[in-house]
Amino acid sequence: MGLFGGRKTVFVDADILVIGGGMAGCGATYESRYWGRDLKIVCVEKANIERSGAVAQGLYAINCYMGMQWGENQPEDHVRYARNDLMGLVREDLGYDIARHVDASVHLFEEWGLPMMRDPKTGQYQREGKWQIMIHGESYKPIVAEAARKAATEVYNRIMVTHLLMDQSKANRVAGAVGFNVRTGDYHVFRAKAVIVAAGGASHIFKPRAVGEGMGRTWYAPWSSGSCYALPIQVGAKMTQMENRIVLTRFKDGYGPVGAYFLHLKTYTQNGYGEEYEKRWYEDTKALVGDYVDHHPVPTCLRNHALLKEVAAGRGPIRMVTKEAFQDPHKETVGWENFLGMTIGQAVVWASQNIDPKHINPELTTSEPYVMGSHATCSGAWASGPEDCAPADYQWGYNRMMTVDGLFGAGDTIGGTAHKFSSGSFAEGRIAAKAAVRYVNDLGKTQLQVSEQEYRDLEKVIYQPLENYRVGRNEIVAGTVSPSYLLPIQGLQRLEQLMDEYVGGISTNYMTNAVMLNRGLELLTMLKEDMSSMGAEDLHQLQRTWELQHRLLASESVTRHTLFRQETRWPGYYYRGDHMKLDDENWHCFTLSRYDRKTGEWAMEKAPVHHIID
Ligand SMILES: Cc1cc2nc3c(=O)[nH]c(=O)nc-3n(C[C@H](O)[C@H](O)[C@H](O)COP(=O)(O)OP(=O)(O)OC[C@H]3O[C@@H](n4cnc5c(N)ncnc54)[C@H](O)[C@@H]3O)c2cc1C
Repeated sequence: MGLFGGRKTVFVDADILVIGGGMAGCGATYESRYWGRDLKIVCVEKANIERSGAVAQGLYAINCYMGMQWGENQPEDHVRYARNDLMGLVREDLGYDIARHVDASVHLFEEWGLPMMRDPKTGQYQREGKWQIMIHGESYKPIVAEAARKAATEVYNRIMVTHLLMDQSKANRVAGAVGFNVRTGDYHVFRAKAVIVAAGGASHIFKPRAVGEGMGRTWYAPWSSGSCYALPIQVGAKMTQMENRIVLTRFKDGYGPVGAYFLHLKTYTQNGYGEEYEKRWYEDTKALVGDYVDHHPVPTCLRNHALLKEVAAGRGPIRMVTKEAFQDPHKETVGWENFLGMTIGQAVVWASQNIDPKHINPELTTSEPYVMGSHATCSGAWASGPEDCAPADYQWGYNRMMTVDGLFGAGDTIGGTAHKFSSGSFAEGRIAAKAAVRYVNDLGKTQLQVSEQEYRDLEKVIYQPLENYRVGRNEIVAGTVSPSYLLPIQGLQRLEQLMDEYVGGISTNYMTNAVMLNRGLELLTMLKEDMSSMGAEDLHQLQRTWELQHRLLASESVTRHTLFRQETRWPGYYYRGDHMKLDDENWHCFTLSRYDRKTGEWAMEKAPVHHIID
């Protein structure tokens, strides 16, 4: 807390404030400078942008690349692909916008030094699959971060942003954000004309399979705490498709990726008895979703569904057949390198469990659900679309601006646009930044007003858990269970358990219904009430507390949306037991929500899905 426990308030004025320095945040920071040569551009990150975000360890493949220079794919193809995978529901305008721009971002990565793999015969980027290209990606994030660092006026690392600030001179306009330095404890007040939220999705809102000492062993980065949803939700931004949580089929316990195995090594899956099982569930799946099961490629959720059914029928575990492919030394090397470049933990798990994939077919499992806007799922904020191709009711201002003036988003933050991945998130950051610069320029000399009362009130709330702990700690002499405060880990485990049991986690085999969801909401409300009694031992725990606050709000949003959509649109991601079938007649639409922080009420509505690509 600084010398003698004092806490400084640091004021930062910016034209554009980028919250989160992951893929989308780095793209936004880079592009803000391109269009806003004289603007003050500030990027604020809770870790260090050098190795932060979901790409921190590196990646082995860039999963979104059209290859337009070689005529491989066109943006329209990608929209069709994402639409198919998401069972018909994507924002085609936003997806098209990313697809038409993403290649240029990948070319920049190469120019900045990212080693790309090339096909020795054609010289083209080595394809892993139709959309994926292979890279030597251990340094992917530092390379991208360097571009952002050079573009930013200032980068503030180690600042956990907790709340957005609103303009006092105009309703529904953002004016900055506040947070605290997780190392020094200093309070930071950022005043900005435009804010771009790029703070990643949410892991650890559902109980993970690995608990206790293994709780960090999740597929999604454990530090992704739903800030990208909570920050806009708190200020009344509309959210969309928050029920569309994602469940991943991955190698058991290490969650190593399976993409390269399926697509490049041509491995395949079998049940515990060495049988093919997906075809067995064709009729069952067709009864639930109709013709969607006949689409090619089979939507990701439906492949999960077949796996889950097979295991529930008592024929697990499901295994990846690696023994054949790994007899080829080249494929064996690629298989291992695939982990060493990005998920070292999987190689360690196999070593520790005596699994040599050359001799043993490793088990697969399904993860607990996560909330993301950039992977094979599309939860996030409802954003205005590009002027040249967004239908009129998807446009109310600047591209990627949310329903709050001056508040933009990219990557996991923005809803309706699945399959953007690392490259698409970076490209979307650039798209949002270009629009944000125009917004700032259009504001001209307009002055925004930040209320001192507001940020001082927030300061009290933000640091209160330290005080709760300091006072309450005296009531106990040992142990961690206190009569007057709740530790962040205790709150987190309570949240995870209730989401798991009532909102469709692993313990119910992803099953829920209206009765369970309503009970879940009651328990969430009780947890919310208890959040004023959080105790934080130090700054690290204070960060955990605010991460929990963000996870909690994101969880409530997920629960409300899941309750609102009365169908099972994505079997394999979750099931509404009281509405087991996909219902295109009533639910071929987006779900939208808006939270009113004054009343605590949520307003739900439907929005039409416009198909602009044939
Ligand atoms: C396990 C996994 C594997 C993947 N594999 C691939 C792959 O092989 N190929 C591919 O192309 N894509 C892959 N992706 C997708 C890719 O990583 C994401 O699409 C991309 O990182 C999303 O970008 P983002 O900026 O929205 O989020 P992130 O890159 O996660 O960045 C979010 C940033 O916000 C910061 N932040 C969060 N909260 C706050 C706060 N309150 N205050 C300040 N800062 C905050 C975080 O520290 C982080 O730096 C994978 C994703 C995961 C999770």
